[in-house]
Amino acid sequence: MAPSDPPSSHTKPPTVRNVKHVVLGDLFFRTWYQSIYPEDLVSKDTDRLYVCRYCFRYSCDVDRYAKHSRLCAHRSTPPGNKIYEHGGYSVWELDGEDHKLYAQNLSLFAKLFLDHKSVFFEVASFLYYLLVFTDPADPENYHILGFFSKEKLSWDANNLACILVFPPYQRKQLGKLLMGVSYKLSDWERDTGLIGGPEKPLSEMGRRSYSRFWEERIVRYLLLRGTDATGDLEETAQQKQTPSKASRKRSSSEVMTVQDIGLATGMLAEDVITALKGLGLMEPISPSKRRKTKTNEETVDKETVVLRMSKVSDWANVHHLSLRDPVRDDGFLGRWAPENIYARDSTSGDEGDGDEEEEEEEEDE
Ligand SMILES: [Zn+2]
Repeated sequence: MAPSDPPSSHTKPPTVRNVKHVVLGDLFFRTWYQSIYPEDLVSKDTDRLYVCRYCFRYSCDVDRYAKHSRLCAHRSTPPGNKIYEHGGYSVWELDGEDHKLYAQNLSLFAKLFLDHKSVFFEVASFLYYLLVFTDPADPENYHILGFFSKEKLSWDANNLACILVFPPYQRKQLGKLLMGVSYKLSDWERDTGLIGGPEKPLSEMGRRSYSRFWEERIVRYLLLRGTDATGDLEETAQQKQTPSKASRKRSSSEVMTVQDIGLATGMLAEDVITALKGLGLMEPISPSKRRKTKTNEETVDKETVVLRMSKVSDWANVHHLSLRDPVRDDGFLGRWAPENIYARDSTSGDEGDGDEEEEEEEEDE
């Protein structure tokens, strides 16, 4: 996802950093931004801060750090509940209210690599989702690779407040995994009828990462729509041919509204537009086509777009897009397990438009 260097310095003045480098477990790397560690514990010109890779407690003293690492209460398992697991990667959900110190220390550490989120230290009102990789040969040897946070009650329907893959683990598509999980959760929570997206404004790095994620999400939807293929299928040679096959079945260009695409993908209209522009698909509909189109006249407005399906397939080919969604439905566990989600949906039939939403969610796989 994010590039492994901070945004280029020509757009922003150089940042003063109170901590120059961190030691996280056996990794040593430089920081990008200032964090607000208490000055009595971390002086303004700390060259090396030792951070526990299990709980993010910190110290400038290597001996204290070594002693803590041996005794850390989270050595064998992260806090919270495992809600997702696939291919060695897992996501753990923890409540900032129940794990205040942990969430504060995680936030302090994350701030060393984030410049745009001014304050996210009111940890009690957030949920945290840790991305973890576990050594298959040693189930107790795990590494936290990054996380995202989410407001428990977001009036703006934000499905994500803050996201970070720690620098040594970047460029491995892990941000997309976290973003995919955040969209999955908000899709399943859509009882309120609100579609979600990340908190704005995005940083330069966040904007780049999200734009690509949204582009891939829409291309997958457009190419898999109407086929039996889902994001959970194994990627076989046959499936790799799906884009061209599927697009041949359809007309070469189609008229859709931004709203249709947003509902199908669980994305906000503004994010759909950003992605369509990035894909080069945002062509305004011509007046003659506008008259001919069968789309309901009321929805034929500025938000109607003509999608050239050949462009969509080309984009997928050029970018070697795997049609398999990086997040697998069958990887979710506990209250987020598909059987629990769908059982919950079927018992909530009296809650207005629940049925419609179920259909849309299924298309979204
Ligand atoms: Zn620890």
